[in-house]
Amino acid sequence: MSVQSTGLFHTRISSLININRLLPDRVVKDVMGMDIPVPSKEGFIRQVLGWREFVHHIHVATDGFRTLSTGNPPVAPGPGDGGYSRWAGKRWPSKRLPGDPDGGAKPSFLGYETPLPPAFWGETSGFACLDHIVSGIWTEGYSHHITRLMVLCNLVTLIGVSPRELTDWFWVAYTDAYDWVVEPNVLGMGTFAVGELMTTKPYVSGASYILRMSDYCERCAFDPKANCPFTNLYWAFLARHEALLRRNPRRRMVMASLRKRDVVRRQYDQAVFSMVRDTLLSGNVIKPEKLPGM
Ligand code: SF4
Repeated sequence: MSVQSTGLFHTRISSLININRLLPDRVVKDVMGMDIPVPSKEGFIRQVLGWREFVHHIHVATDGFRTLSTGNPPVAPGPGDGGYSRWAGKRWPSKRLPGDPDGGAKPSFLGYETPLPPAFWGETSGFACLDHIVSGIWTEGYSHHITRLMVLCNLVTLIGVSPRELTDWFWVAYTDAYDWVVEPNVLGMGTFAVGELMTTKPYVSGASYILRMSDYCERCAFDPKANCPFTNLYWAFLARHEALLRRNPRRRMVMASLRKRDVVRRQYDQAVFSMVRDTLLSGNVIKPEKLPGM
């Protein structure tokens, strides 16, 4: 992710493919015939033949998660989960109403219902990463998938936004967005809204990951190694879902680190979470001087 390019190493043909002006078969054959390294071919083809076909299958098989029952949860419910046990045997709540045949399913495995903050519609948030990406989206109707996952989906999951609200926003914001594309990617992968149906863990991270994968932090009022709220939001998220995540083998190390985090730091994480969520929801700018005191 870079301020120097909105496309970077991405082809930007997703909009043309998704309206059938380019056919997947054609682009795969073109890439197969190119004189480029095999890993480059593989990286492209598995996105088209692999992930793209998989999310289409998920959409068709579940009618956009509308007909999906959670009677056989991939994770056995446990005490304090607040997750699958609430959903077991039920269908996802749906917005589909008489006269609203296109209303989408509203799964929220983590129980999140916070509205989408105004920053996604162009208000300044004070987070250089978010503000840069959102500005580019409203200019081009596009940002590449790493920005979608690592910053947009990550942040809304960390502050507890309704996955459906983010999904509907994607549908408005991106020129390549269609229900069959957006619902599996945002509900299924980006926000963990259907639990472990499509991914093995929530896709969340703190500031160190964004620092490593971008040049956004150089231009930010926050220091990713000292006071960036993403990191506190990340720890607060892990603490909120500790009972659920500690059973996940892929989370074992980070959950061990969480257990070593002292109570003062945990309280501070929670205070940052409340401040960031409330400030973003009110449409105000988050500034370092507004951070709660330790
Ligand atoms: S310091 Fe934090 S808020 Fe600022 S760009 Fe980096 S990750 Fe985003």
